[in-house]
Amino acid sequence: MSDLTTPRPYRSYVYAYPHKTAYRPLPDPAPSLSALWRDEPKDALSLYAHIPFCEVRCGFCNLFTRIGAPDELTTRYLDALDRQATTVREALGDAAPVRFATAAFGGGTPTFLTADELSRLCDIAEKRMGVDLRAVPLSVETSPATATADRLAVLSERGATRLSIGVQSFVEAEARAAVRPQRRADVESALGRIRDTGVPVLNIDLIYGIDGQTERSWRSSLDAALTWRPEELYLYPLYVRPLTGLGRISPADRERADREWDERRLRLYRYGRDHLLAHGYEQVSMRMFRRTDAAPLGPDDYACQTDGMIGLGCGARSYTSALHYSFDYAVDMREIRSIIDAYTESEDFSRVEVGRWVDAEEARRRHLLQSLLQAEGMPVAGYEERFGSSPFADFPAELARFEALGWLDADAPAGLLRLSPEGLAYSDGLGPELFSPDVRAAMAAYEPK
Ligand code: SF4
Repeated sequence: MSDLTTPRPYRSYVYAYPHKTAYRPLPDPAPSLSALWRDEPKDALSLYAHIPFCEVRCGFCNLFTRIGAPDELTTRYLDALDRQATTVREALGDAAPVRFATAAFGGGTPTFLTADELSRLCDIAEKRMGVDLRAVPLSVETSPATATADRLAVLSERGATRLSIGVQSFVEAEARAAVRPQRRADVESALGRIRDTGVPVLNIDLIYGIDGQTERSWRSSLDAALTWRPEELYLYPLYVRPLTGLGRISPADRERADREWDERRLRLYRYGRDHLLAHGYEQVSMRMFRRTDAAPLGPDDYACQTDGMIGLGCGARSYTSALHYSFDYAVDMREIRSIIDAYTESEDFSRVEVGRWVDAEEARRRHLLQSLLQAEGMPVAGYEERFGSSPFADFPAELARFEALGWLDADAPAGLLRLSPEGLAYSDGLGPELFSPDVRAAMAAYEPK
């Protein structure tokens, strides 16, 4: 019989499977981009450009980014991005039509770049890669301090359809405690400038689980965000906890403190979810909520990205149907800096050095995982059509366990595999249960650097 102890709710955020910590240097000879992409469908690609710079390091952040950019580093980075884009576009070839269906600039903080640099980034996407930015959904991440009128004007003029701002908390004390010091007035004026652009979708990121955050203060952040009627809201659980005093407590006390933190985050999650559902939003995934009267503009969620992703920049992933790849990966600031430096010096982007092959079994897992974590669920017929087998036959133990834990919606229409509200709440505990033994082993063996 399977273990029916409810797992911890916050194990890891599965925004892409397999995780980058399961990528490895590929053996020589490294595959060439042109060979990799030769037989791939190229008529609905996604472009993602990664800008790994931020003005400050947020306390909770474990993304691939560095603080500041000395000595014209952003110029050199864009030069490298330009070289990489040229090489990638050549590798895609012209034997079959190449068309991009979506584009996104993420980070880091893309608006760390100046207005002129953002123009150049758009030029690279358009002129080198051939993306028609004004014709496809273009999403750009920004921050309160860098969402200046001149930068936003460039983005809006070049075709941005979605601006996503990391506010995290409207409560200044909370921002100081766990996030980054910021003045509420500055956040509000950044939001005003974003709305002034007329870009159709505003997304606001908020975080729950901050030290000292209460349901009341959480509600005040939610309400402050709602004042702007954002088309989308992402509610993120805090993962990196302030270590105050924790180093000195016994393992048993630490275990209890962790449980209490889990319970607090679950409580705040439920509160936030219910508050948004009561204020005209629908739930798209554990983190994502969309205003019900907002016009849909493209892929719902980053997690929905399937094959056919072209990543530019040193922290970006690319996906073909068989290989997921990127550059080297690190979490330590010194290592991140040296990877960025190596990227800016690189002249040859024609081969893939770090990645993970995705075989048929992993493709099934990925499909199940990424569809199940969407609130709308997974049509079983779509899975069967794609893989020629049933998810219940492919993952009998996992699905039986999810059912026994009450994570599957017993009232879902026939043919739809959908999480229950509780299953959705446990997305970050459920997701890792679908990782293959190989991916788990690779992630466990990854040595952080
Ligand atoms: S702005 Fe975003 S990417 Fe930069 S440190 Fe903060 S959370 Fe991380």
